[in-house]
Amino acid sequence: TKIIETQSISKRYVMGEEVIDALKDVTISVNKGEYVAFMGPSGSGKSTLMNIVGCLDTPTTGKYILNGQDVSEMSENELAAVRNKEIGFVFQTFNLLPRQSALENVALPLIYAGYSKKERTEIALRTLKGVGLDNRALHKPNELSGGQRQRVAVARALVNDPSILLADEPTGNLDTKTSYEIMDLFDQLHKKGNTIVMVTHEDDIAQYAHRIIRLRDGVVESDIINTNVRKVE
Ligand code: ADP
Ligand code: ADP
Repeated sequence: TKIIETQSISKRYVMGEEVIDALKDVTISVNKGEYVAFMGPSGSGKSTLMNIVGCLDTPTTGKYILNGQDVSEMSENELAAVRNKEIGFVFQTFNLLPRQSALENVALPLIYAGYSKKERTEIALRTLKGVGLDNRALHKPNELSGGQRQRVAVARALVNDPSILLADEPTGNLDTKTSYEIMDLFDQLHKKGNTIVMVTHEDDIAQYAHRIIRLRDGVVESDIINTNVRKVE
């Protein structure tokens, strides 16, 4: 089943006299369970595409169908509701609450989903276990390594069981060895059936994905199945 389907989407930014076509006629579709990298140099349109795919923004023209729903014409509020249900975000900068434990950070999205305290703790612990961090549940972010913090952020992204894990430069703040640790985690999540979209400008990180969509100047330059997926040794 298709999770992501963009139909000839374009995004135009107008700033006074200046017009920038950040995306031009981008048509891609991603099936449930795929692990895709959006690759491309700075300015190629990756963030713009990610913002649309993640329901943070809508295209200027064209359609975006997310998990069967046309979200291209939705209002801010409708978009926010779809985003909360369908998308789990991971950012380069982790974005964890510093005074809350790993467990509390992971449990946070469950508050809005209406679970009881007991249920939240159970679900958050189970999700932390899924990223190999149940033994760090009560640690605060500053008591964790960079890789552990990013794993907490991944657990938080997954706790509501979203249809897409959307990771924006997930290894951008990590050293090489820790980056491999996160790529290893993504590999395990992919094997468990999660749909992963990773945005990166780093070619060696993109090589961990099973499909690589390369953008250049707002168009899809290539869209290939990665026949030589990099594995963490
Ligand atoms: P990437 O993530 O690949 O670096 P972006 O999607 O951020 O690329 O940018 C694509 C193009 O759109 C660039 O020329 C950038 O300057 C422009 N752009 C991005 N966001 C905005 C914005 N909010 N307003 C105006 N121009 C923008
Ligand atoms: P270089 O090849 O210049 O040493 P790399 O970034 O490829 O730089 O590797 C840095 C370190 O990470 C090396 O010690 C290497 O053995 C290790 N390494 C490289 N690729 C992998 C991988 N896929 N999984 C785990 N470790 C790796």
